[in-house]
Amino acid sequence: MYPHLLSPASVHGVHLRNRVLMGSMHTGLEDRAADFPKLATYFAERAKGGVGLIVTGGIAPNMRGWVKPFAGKLSWPWEVRRHRLLTDAVHAEGGKICMQILHAGRYAFHPFSAAPSRIKAPISPFTPFALSANAVVSQVRDFVRCASLARDAGYDGVEVMGSEGYLINQFTSPRTNHRTDRYGGSDEARMRLPVEIVHGIRERVGDAFLIIYRLSLLDLVEDGNSWDAVVAQAKAIEQAGASMLNSGIGWHEARVPTIVSSVPRAAFAQVTARIRQEVGIPVVVSNRINTPEVAESLLASGVADFVSMARPLLADPEWVEKSARGKAHLINTCIGCNQACLDHVFENKPASCLVNPRAAREREFSTTKAPVARKVIIVGAGPAGLSCAIAAAERGHNVTILERSEALGGQFKLAATIPGKEEFYETLRYYSAQVQELGIDLRLGVEANCEGLLADAPDVIVIATGVRPRKPDIPGIEHPMVMDYMQALTGASVGKRVAVIGAGGIGFDVCEFLTQSVPTHASAIDRWQEKWGVDPNYRIGAGLIAPRPHPPEREVWLLQRSAGKFGQRLNKTTGWVHRASLAKASVKTLDNVNYVGIDDLGLHLRRNDSAICLHVDNVIVCAGQESRSELFDQVKQKHPDCHLIGGARLASEVDAKRAIEEGFRLAYSL
Ligand code: NAP
Ligand code: SF4
Repeated sequence: MYPHLLSPASVHGVHLRNRVLMGSMHTGLEDRAADFPKLATYFAERAKGGVGLIVTGGIAPNMRGWVKPFAGKLSWPWEVRRHRLLTDAVHAEGGKICMQILHAGRYAFHPFSAAPSRIKAPISPFTPFALSANAVVSQVRDFVRCASLARDAGYDGVEVMGSEGYLINQFTSPRTNHRTDRYGGSDEARMRLPVEIVHGIRERVGDAFLIIYRLSLLDLVEDGNSWDAVVAQAKAIEQAGASMLNSGIGWHEARVPTIVSSVPRAAFAQVTARIRQEVGIPVVVSNRINTPEVAESLLASGVADFVSMARPLLADPEWVEKSARGKAHLINTCIGCNQACLDHVFENKPASCLVNPRAAREREFSTTKAPVARKVIIVGAGPAGLSCAIAAAERGHNVTILERSEALGGQFKLAATIPGKEEFYETLRYYSAQVQELGIDLRLGVEANCEGLLADAPDVIVIATGVRPRKPDIPGIEHPMVMDYMQALTGASVGKRVAVIGAGGIGFDVCEFLTQSVPTHASAIDRWQEKWGVDPNYRIGAGLIAPRPHPPEREVWLLQRSAGKFGQRLNKTTGWVHRASLAKASVKTLDNVNYVGIDDLGLHLRRNDSAICLHVDNVIVCAGQESRSELFDQVKQKHPDCHLIGGARLASEVDAKRAIEEGFRLAYSL
C-alpha cells in the first residue's frame, strides 16, 4: 500500500530495508551505562517492528558537549562496549542503527559550556566561554574520534547534529558566531567547523559508513541563516563526504512551535523539497509526520528520499510493520502532545509516551500473557478504562466495557474538539480499532449499576467512571448565561463576549475553542504560517516574517483567583505555545480576582479592592473536576477484586497521561 515508503535503498554501501528513519530522540536511558540494556530492548522492538534505520539520542563527543552533567558521551575506548549492546540488538532484528553525535555548545546545562562566542542562550542559565581557534580544532578531533569509536561499536553510521541551535548551528549562524578568525566573519568561514568535522569523519571511517548531517533548514530565530547560506552549507557538507542530509527545523530557543500537535502535519516539508533540488545525496524530511499516508505522499511527490519520525515510533514500535501488513488503522498514532516524552526529558525523567506507557519501559512490561485469563468488567470508556481494557485483553483476559454515553473516549473526546488538538481523534480511532481487533465486548449506552455488575459474576471489576465538572459556589451560578466546559465544547450556543472562570489546561483549551477564527480558503499550513510568522520562502531574514494572526471570533476574558503568571502548571514544552496562541487571539487575562456574583448584567468581580463587572453573554466554568466514584463505593463492599482508576479515583490534576498509565498498570497487575 505504501510503495515508496516501503521500498529499500542503498546509501553509501549500507542497505536499508525501507525509507523509514527513526529520528533521534533523547529518552534519558543514554546517560547511564546501567540503562543500556533497557535502551537495547527499546531499540530492538523498533527494529523488529520494521524500522529501516534508527538514529540514537544525542551522544556527546566530549564532556564540554554534554547537554547536562553526566549525559551520554563517547570519547574513550572503554565506553564502546555498552554501545555494542545497542548495535547487536538492532542488527539481530535486521535493522540498521546510527549514533547521533551532539555537542550542546551554549545549550549545555553545566558551567563549562563552550560556544563560538561568549553569548548566553536564553534557555540556559550558564554563559559559555568562547572557544579559541585551537580549542575549535580539538572539538573537530573529538567529533572524529567519537565517530570512529561509534564504528568500533558496530554502528552503521553517525548523524552529526548540525541544527536546532546546538554547537555546530551556533557556529554556522551570525546570531551566535561573532568570531573574526577562520571560523567566523563570513558564511564560508562560519561553516568551516561542520565541513571539517564531516571531512575528518569520512577520512577516518572510510566509505561503507553512513554520515547523516542534520542541517538547519529554517533557524526561525532573528539573525539566523539566509537561504543562500543554507544551500551553501548543504553543498559543502555533501562535498565533504556526507551520505544524507536530514532536515532540522527551528532552534530550541525559537518562539515558533515546530513539533507540537497544533503544528499542521508536514508543515515544513516545503523547505526539504527545496534543498533536495540543490544536492545529489538523499534527503530526509522530518517534523510532524505521523501517519503512513502523509509519509508516503511526501516521498511520492518527490519532497524527500526518506522520512524521519521519532515520537511516532515511541508511540508505536510496530508502525512500519502495521503499515506493511495493511493494518495502518491499528497504529497507535503519536498526537504530538510531548507530555510523556519531551516534557519528561526536560524534567530529568526517563521519556515514555502518553498513548503508549510501555515505551522505553519494555523490560518492565513484557508482552507475555497473564498466567490465568480472567473475566474483567470495566465501567467507563474514557482514557483510563480503554487503556486498561486494551492492555488487559492483550494479556489474554476476557474484557467487557460498559459505557453510559453513546461513544467511547470520555474527556479525550472533548480534547479532540479543541483547535490544534485534532490529533486526539487518532487515539480515539486507535482505541476503537483495538477494541474490535481484540474482541473486547464494548457496550455503549449502558448505565452500570452494582446489582447488574455482580450478576455478571466477573473476576475483576474496574471502575473508571471519570469526572464531572466542579460547580463553584458563586452567587448566580445557576443563571442561564452560565455553562460548564463540557456544555461549551459539545455544541451549546455561546455569545460573542465570554468570561472563562479558571485558567487551568481546560480554561486555556476553551479559550482556544472560543476564539478560533472562521476558516478561510487558505490551507491549514498557510494559515498556521501566517499566525506564527513563518516564511519558508525566505523573503526576508531567517524564515521569519511579521505574524498575521486571524481575528478571533469572540472577545474572551480568562480569569483566575490566584495571582501571577497564567498557565503556570501547563507543560514545559507546550505551555508557552498555548500562552502565545491566546495572546495572538487577544484573550484578556485577569488574575487575583474574587468572584462576587453573576446576574443579567454579567460577571461581577473584585480585584485589588475595585469592583469590576464584565458585561458578557456567557460565563463558562472551567474550575476543575470532581470524581464520579459513587459506584465504586457500592461495589467495593460486595466484590473482593474491585479497582478504582483515573479521574474517578483522584480528580485533582488528572490528565490523560495519568489516566492512561493508571489503566495500563492495573491491567499488568491482573
Ligand atoms: P486545573 O488545572 O486544576 O485548573 C482549574 C482552575 O480552576 C484552577 O487553576 C483554579 O484556579 C480554578 N478553580 C479551582 N477551583 C475553583 C473554584 N472553586 N472556583 C473558581 N475557580 C476555581 O483543572 P483543569 O483545567 O480542569 O484541567 C484538568 C487537568 O487536565 C489538569 O491536570 C490539566 O493540566 C490537564 N489539562 C492540560 C491541558 C494542557 O496542557 N493544555 C489541557 C487540558 C487539560 P484559581 O484557583 O487560581 O482560580
Ligand atoms: Fe507522541 Fe505524546 Fe507519545 Fe510524545 S508522549 S510520543 S508526543 S503521543
